Amino acid sequence: MAQDTLNTFLDAIVASPSPYTALDRQYVANRIYALVGDGTPQDAASPDPIDLVAALVATAIAHGKINDTPSEREILDAQLMDLMTPLPSALNRGFWDRYQISPSTATDWFYQLSRANNYIKTRNIARNVVFDADTAAGQLEITINLSKPEKDPKAIAAARNQPKTGYPLDQLCMTNEGYLGRLGYPARSNHRIVRVMLGGETWGFQYSPYAYFTEHAIFLSQEHRPMKVDQHAFTNLLEIVRQFPTYFVGSNADLPIVGGSMLSHDHYQGGKHTFPMMKAPLDREFDVDVPGVTADVVQWPMTDLRLRGQHPEDLVNAAVNIMDHWVDYSDDSVDVRAYTDGTRHHTITPIAYRDGQDFVLDLVLRDNQTSAQYPDGIFHPHQDVQHIKKENIGLIEVMGRAILPARLKTEMAEVTKYLLDQPNQMAEIHRAWADQLKQAHQITAENVTGIVHQAMGDVFARVLADAGVFKRDQTGQAALDRFLRDLI
Ligand SMILES: [Zn+2]
Repeated sequence: MAQDTLNTFLDAIVASPSPYTALDRQYVANRIYALVGDGTPQDAASPDPIDLVAALVATAIAHGKINDTPSEREILDAQLMDLMTPLPSALNRGFWDRYQISPSTATDWFYQLSRANNYIKTRNIARNVVFDADTAAGQLEITINLSKPEKDPKAIAAARNQPKTGYPLDQLCMTNEGYLGRLGYPARSNHRIVRVMLGGETWGFQYSPYAYFTEHAIFLSQEHRPMKVDQHAFTNLLEIVRQFPTYFVGSNADLPIVGGSMLSHDHYQGGKHTFPMMKAPLDREFDVDVPGVTADVVQWPMTDLRLRGQHPEDLVNAAVNIMDHWVDYSDDSVDVRAYTDGTRHHTITPIAYRDGQDFVLDLVLRDNQTSAQYPDGIFHPHQDVQHIKKENIGLIEVMGRAILPARLKTEMAEVTKYLLDQPNQMAEIHRAWADQLKQAHQITAENVTGIVHQAMGDVFARVLADAGVFKRDQTGQAALDRFLRDLI
């Protein structure tokens, strides 16, 4: 489809919440020529700004304005999309004006804007493999993450030769807002951050460019400081769901092995998604001795303690009590140890959300010990399931949504061929598992995908069970009851 690329893009810019109006058309056209070179731009595949910008980037390459590398294309793409984006001041004003109507009016607007300007990479996200699996732990969500672009080896090599400026300090610092990008560091010209007040501090609220679920948001502290799960964090999480009642928000644990990949910058993740753990049934009540707070053990492979009440400060009191006890609690009979050789092992993955007028705070107990038998972690996916998942079990996975590495898409295709006795290049690490599946099922071309998906779900249920500190058997639950009795 032939498009008058430049004029269609100028129409989109003028119609967007960018600073530009019809009177600015000629000026903006010249800003675009400055970036892509003079002369008629190439035709776009569709009038979608993502396609218009792709055509402008191709024009820039044809004109020799940039080199045809992933990094330079991404930087120019973000610079062009920046023209469709309000300035941070206007964006913050637009967000908080809409918040007066309702919190979700504001988040809907910000979310649509972040998609329209290709900050959220919707087309890459659409490549992800996503399915549900019914398992012994209930229905779990399995995703294979294909949205992050493969690292370009040339860019990595070239980045190594660049001087280290230490700017921005990391990808969660506020200094990324509007940052041009460089080899090996993402382009952020079109990136915007909403400022939110939490407990007297300024925090940033932004979306994740490679979302793992709907409206995947990140809340980050203005100050560059390490992650810490404590009273302050519990208070902040509940304050976020008070301000944004349609969102959940949680924090990764603040210790290695059981935490996320970014422990260096204090941040939380939230969004509009109801995870399997939130739907899991309650098992039994326990006493936290805080009036107005009910506390239950959740039927979940990891040890999830659910607090519920109408007043955030009551939930924080109960959570701090549980955290303080857990940080010092040991029970050798179930391999739970607070410290070894002076090194702390215990922390919590906390998740807050709303249920009607109630505030809910889920506390998932974590222990990051390693042993001779389990060098990767006693409460970490064990060796026999690492062919599917060997990475840390972070916040999102704790709640029952697996984020599996991209390699599994091609590897599972080979497993499928193996199961159908077709020529294949199945990796050796999957053989024992695949042979079990062959034995257990009459596999046909019709049922093979379902069997593989189901089996991946079963493996993920096992992964969660491995990460659970008090196992869901009699010994584990008796040990959990001893811990809970110790609370009051
Ligand atoms: Zn930082």
